[in-house]
Amino acid sequence: MRILAVGAHPDDLEILCAGTLAKFAQDGHHITMCHVGKGDKGHFHIPNDELAKIRRKEAQLSASRIGAESVCLDLPDCEMFNDRPTLVLFIDLMRSARPDLIITHSPTDYMPDHQVVSRLVYDASFHATLPNFKTSLPAHDKVPPIYLMDSVAGVDFAPTEYVDISDFIEQKKEMMLCHQSQVVWLKEHDNLDITDFIESIAKFRGIQCGVPYAEAFAVVNRWPRLRPQRLLP
Ligand SMILES: [Zn+2]
Repeated sequence: MRILAVGAHPDDLEILCAGTLAKFAQDGHHITMCHVGKGDKGHFHIPNDELAKIRRKEAQLSASRIGAESVCLDLPDCEMFNDRPTLVLFIDLMRSARPDLIITHSPTDYMPDHQVVSRLVYDASFHATLPNFKTSLPAHDKVPPIYLMDSVAGVDFAPTEYVDISDFIEQKKEMMLCHQSQVVWLKEHDNLDITDFIESIAKFRGIQCGVPYAEAFAVVNRWPRLRPQRLLP
């Protein structure tokens, strides 16, 4: 399969679904990791443009750990809106990645960028199949299933499926540590030890499904996105 994972910011996929992406990669699937925002706002000391460049390199390094393609839609953080130009950006993301399966944020996750990305992925993955919605790329041939990844800290999220990532927890943490500038930011802004956070959430989700470490997902329960077989690894 072709897997497209879309996070609002450069480290969201690492925090919320990197174990599953690593597992997909080991099974030989093609993976595109997209961060919509440049990551240009989240730091106390480094200015926007410089920060965006650092964050792009960090995301590329992390993606390379599992042989995934890394894509950035280059929007400024906290300036993502559900307007026509942004919708076209997302449609072209679908038309170039051509996913069989999409992973993205829950629409109720904690911050506006995560919420708007969730909505744009849902809308654009349908519109991308309409040949009369003209953009620079040809229409995609399917409306793919969407799996919502866990919310940050698992708040207000009801999982419908779990992925056992016990063999991939170290790889998930290593991918997170590729985002060194985020590790510093999360400590200074949120008083968060992010690798401890990742491990705790994975352990908590693991307890729910009877394995040492897991990631949680909820399928988007809408026609024509449902499939008869399990798709997550
Ligand atoms: Zn984020």
